Amino acid sequence: MAYTINDSCINCGACIEECPTEAISAGDDKHVIDAEKCIDCGACAGACPVDAPVEG
Ligand code: SF4
Ligand code: SF4
Repeated sequence: MAYTINDSCINCGACIEECPTEAISAGDDKHVIDAEKCIDCGACAGACPVDAPVEG
């Protein structure tokens, strides 16, 4: 199950450089995770100031 980024994302970009598979990209309203690339490591959640990346 891949991580997803919820609506609390403030588009800060901190998670992008933490992702080992480059699964995260900037969207219009929030950053988004490519489920095909996500390996469920949780690094993005650890880097996020607002706990936007969530499992499942
Ligand atoms: Fe990248 Fe890991 Fe977050 Fe998936 S859980 S988007 S692999 S940092
Ligand atoms: Fe959004 Fe959190 Fe990533 Fe910042 S670190 S872009 S708030 S998901």
